[in-house]
Amino acid sequence: MEVRSCRGCGKLYNYLGPSTPACPACMAAMEEKFQVCKEYIRDNPGANIQKVADETDTSVKMIKQWVREERLTFAEGSVVGIECESCGASILTGRYCPACKFKMQQSFANASRRPSDPQKTQTKNDRDNKMRFLDR
Ligand SMILES: [Zn+2]
Ligand SMILES: [Zn+2]
Repeated sequence: MEVRSCRGCGKLYNYLGPSTPACPACMAAMEEKFQVCKEYIRDNPGANIQKVADETDTSVKMIKQWVREERLTFAEGSVVGIECESCGASILTGRYCPACKFKMQQSFANASRRPSDPQKTQTKNDRDNKMRFLDR
């Protein structure tokens, strides 16, 4: 077991992995703030990230992290101030813009698709030709 000092309050706590970045008390407080932010954004669609941070007593940095994790989503037209990690376009949630996400999915699909077998196509054409010949 690893003991670390909490980055929130400085107290020592048992670090159990990346899911425990702070002590249990700070984790609970953070989760509470997350719920407050989430509700604030739901009730105030279009509010920009700075205003959400001010109104909910959170930091812009924390909100951005939740947005990157896709736990928070801002409404269309909000000023969030996070960019697509691939092309730099302004986005509302996650790490990539819809266009880059789509491109990534496409290249993934292409990579996993098996190349077409030209010989098979040839055989099928030959058979079709023969059949046409017999029909005559
Ligand atoms: Zn703490
Ligand atoms: Zn992009």
